[in-house]
Amino acid sequence: MALADDVLRGEPLALARAISLVENGAPEGRALLDTLSPRAGKALRIGLTGPPGVGKSTTVDELSDLHRSRGEKVGVIAVDPTSPFTGGALLGDRVRMTKAAESDIFVRSMASRGVSGGLSRATQDAADLLDASGRTLILLETVGVGQSEIEISRAADVVIVMLSPESGDGVQAMKSGVLEIADLVAINKADRGGADRLEHDLRTAFELGLRSRKDVPILLTEANTGKGIPELAGAVDALVAARKQSGAFVERRKSNMESRLRRIAEFLLQTDLWESGDSRTRVRAAAERVLAGDQSPYQCARKLLEEALR
Ligand code: GDP
Repeated sequence: MALADDVLRGEPLALARAISLVENGAPEGRALLDTLSPRAGKALRIGLTGPPGVGKSTTVDELSDLHRSRGEKVGVIAVDPTSPFTGGALLGDRVRMTKAAESDIFVRSMASRGVSGGLSRATQDAADLLDASGRTLILLETVGVGQSEIEISRAADVVIVMLSPESGDGVQAMKSGVLEIADLVAINKADRGGADRLEHDLRTAFELGLRSRKDVPILLTEANTGKGIPELAGAVDALVAARKQSGAFVERRKSNMESRLRRIAEFLLQTDLWESGDSRTRVRAAAERVLAGDQSPYQCARKLLEEALR
């Protein structure tokens, strides 16, 4: 497949096209992943989540620039979980990632709209494509609203939860349970004052409420000046190295893959069983067989499954 070869060569246009194919769940996209997924698995996947305005994009920009200057190939997926019901995009069209725009860092936004079978399925597929294309670091950025942060923790090797001392982010985070998925916490906008206080509150929360997580590193950053970003990157490196040593890194990849497989199986059921061309006819015929007393509902349902997935 010519497109697969172009993706393997790391061509940005091919990557963009390939991601669109997996986004809309097209059979072509699946075939592409069949070819390319075995070539993925080398890149480190870091998730960043936090409330709107906390400085995620700025941090992603700084982190990608830092890693690029170390000779890494960086890919960014900005996941926008905005539902069609709440309207506009959160990460959408605004001007961002200035450094990335000037370099060979590949940046892609993905919004729920137009994604078939769930954003997390598409995000992970896209990350595989980036990985196969030779990107060595993949940053997955998402706004911390609702389910999206849990999903990012299933797609990432490491999750950075970002908070700022402003606007009660800390209290909100403690209430929402987002701290439970934090492998590291970055308190951004440390220049704004109140960062030490927030650090202390978080440390207490980790020690009292989440004992298993009492060693979660908390770092202070000022993404707009780059202050604290090298330390954040260093803390991620140290965590990854320790986890590789202990086996926790591979263990997490396995459990992430388990939940991914469940999702893909559900997606295949949805598309191949219920939405395929002749599915209505087949389900109707099966219903008639049950009502005629020829087969039990379970026998028929199993048969439908077998036929659809053949
Ligand atoms: P996102 O919505 O989480 O992606 O946040 P952005 O990265 O778009 O940042 C929101 C605003 O905060 C922008 O105007 C940034 O320049 C600014 N900003 C980011 N980091 C800092 C920081 O450490 N200190 C201050 N004072 N402003 C920051």
